Amino acid sequence: MTSFMSEDTQKWIDEKCSARVGMVNVWECQACEHKLVVIHRHTGVTPVVLIHNASYGGAEDCSGQMVSWGYLNLTQLAYEPTHEFYRPDLSEYAKLESEPMKAHLRDGGLILRPLQQ
Ligand SMILES: [Zn+2]
Repeated sequence: MTSFMSEDTQKWIDEKCSARVGMVNVWECQACEHKLVVIHRHTGVTPVVLIHNASYGGAEDCSGQMVSWGYLNLTQLAYEPTHEFYRPDLSEYAKLESEPMKAHLRDGGLILRPLQQ
């Protein structure tokens, strides 16, 4: 096994999502207006809405909805990314304990984490 995704999923992701690699996008909280700035490392799907939590910075204890700017608003270029969406490699995937997260990855989803240097 060289990938946790099916060939069909990989093909679909490559066709639909490769243009986003390297792009920066913003998820803005509807409750506290905090902006989560994320760079897109790999081909894959990202959510339209995230639930604000402490690891994203901004207001503590906020659990507002953070809505994607949709990769279209060029204003996002004014922001420095603090997080990244990435696809883990096979060994990291194998160590994941969350079955819903693994299913998300098999469907072409990406994982959000603080920016790695
Ligand atoms: Zn918030």
